[in-house]
Amino acid sequence: MANPNPEIKCTKIFINNEFVNAVSGKTFPTINPSTGKKICDVAEADKADVDLAVKAAKAAFDRKSAWRQMDASARGKLLIKLTELMERDLHYLASLESLDNGKPYASAVFDVHGSMNALRYYAGWADKISGETVPSDGPHLTYTRKEPVGVVGQIVPWNYPMLMLAWKWGPALAAGCTIVMKPAEQTPLTALYLCSLAKEAGFPAGVINMLPGYGPTAGNAISIHPDVRKVAFTGSVEVGKIIMAAAASTLKKVSLELGGKSPLVICEDVDVDEAAQIAYAGVFENMGQCCIAATRTFVQEGIYDAFVKKATELAKSRKVGNPFGQGVQHGPQIDETQFGKILGYIEKGKKEGASLEAGGIRVGAEGYFIEPTVFANVTDEMTIAKEEIFGPVQSIIKFKTLDEAIERANATTFGLAAGIVTKNLNNALTFSNAVEAGSVWVNTYLAVTNQAPFGGYKQSGIGREMGKEGIELYLETKTVCIKLPSKV
Ligand code: ADP
Repeated sequence: MANPNPEIKCTKIFINNEFVNAVSGKTFPTINPSTGKKICDVAEADKADVDLAVKAAKAAFDRKSAWRQMDASARGKLLIKLTELMERDLHYLASLESLDNGKPYASAVFDVHGSMNALRYYAGWADKISGETVPSDGPHLTYTRKEPVGVVGQIVPWNYPMLMLAWKWGPALAAGCTIVMKPAEQTPLTALYLCSLAKEAGFPAGVINMLPGYGPTAGNAISIHPDVRKVAFTGSVEVGKIIMAAAASTLKKVSLELGGKSPLVICEDVDVDEAAQIAYAGVFENMGQCCIAATRTFVQEGIYDAFVKKATELAKSRKVGNPFGQGVQHGPQIDETQFGKILGYIEKGKKEGASLEAGGIRVGAEGYFIEPTVFANVTDEMTIAKEEIFGPVQSIIKFKTLDEAIERANATTFGLAAGIVTKNLNNALTFSNAVEAGSVWVNTYLAVTNQAPFGGYKQSGIGREMGKEGIELYLETKTVCIKLPSKV
């Protein structure tokens, strides 16, 4: 069951199936966002540790290694074994996540299930990756092989620490790659514990390596390392650009899942209560710390006032508090920096003339809690309508026609997700075809599923994770051509 004081079992760097101190001996604190106080110190990886981890991952990828000699189906079985151990330790993992990240316990449980499901999905892929025979010119047998890329660097954020890890471990391991991962400095604890489970499951030494530490040091060392063949990143647009530039020096393959400023368009033919509920869940989930958050709520003029009223009621009814508290739906923001940044955006919203309908202030005197905030009368030029806030702030914007809403929805450099709520099929189809976004939801929102590709248009990213496309990110295609005695 939920335990607000879980024992902290893993705090060191994980290389070659062993937990080790940093070469420098340095550590950094990981903070409980509900109190602002230190949970524990964690070994701080830097370039020297990354070098050791890459060496281990490279050895594990050697063509004669246990990992490379293993049947593809056996890789799938190891992934399944890992999920069984996660299931065994579900409440421990969820408690550790709520403590380190601040998300409500029930959400952390949901994340463990989501992570197990993502790993199970890719476990199924392990022995279903295959090339083709090709009808080539000449007397040749020509076929393609799908081969693992090699050592991959994976850099993940703090908003869904376990889920983002699973989205990256799953396809990389199913494909047969070896991994050098960096968790976010705010949330290293579940990632480290999952490494101990991977070892227990039987993954050979060096296949998975984990380097807690900071972005400009450990993260950069991964992005520039010549023996890392691909880097997969989830995080901000700003850091995505830095990583892409760093990866250019060795021409690494890059996949980036970045930020968003996603539009959710509510047409006036809908049930206002239902639509407000969809929009509420779409923006306040995970304290608004969600790359696909529906932060631009476009509402058609005929129902605008009624919608604002309902949205305000919903935001005010959200239970904010300690993540381990009974019935709590909304915990703290991740850290002091984000907390300050979000409050700054709220001030800007007020100053630029949006009308504050709910929230807008800190909750309590300790930790990083912010009341779910609703702004009405938001216009496209306001900062809160343009920039990614990554916090619990809903901006409700008025529109007249669907064509106008589409144009305004697309008037952004982001393109991660979008949604429409309508009873009119033509509206739904017109919008889903016209909106520039990697995921579009109709009469629902946040419906991410393991089997479907996920990623961004424009500056929201490069490549697609999950589904079949997710595994392609970790594969090279080799063409083999063999001379035959004759055409037939
Ligand atoms: P957020 O704004 O959500 O904190 P970031 O993009 O800053 O997201 O961070 C996501 C991940 O990227 C974290 O693991 C962070 O440490 C890492 N990171 C930050 N800066 C760099 C960098 N220069 N190179 C590589 N990784 C980085």
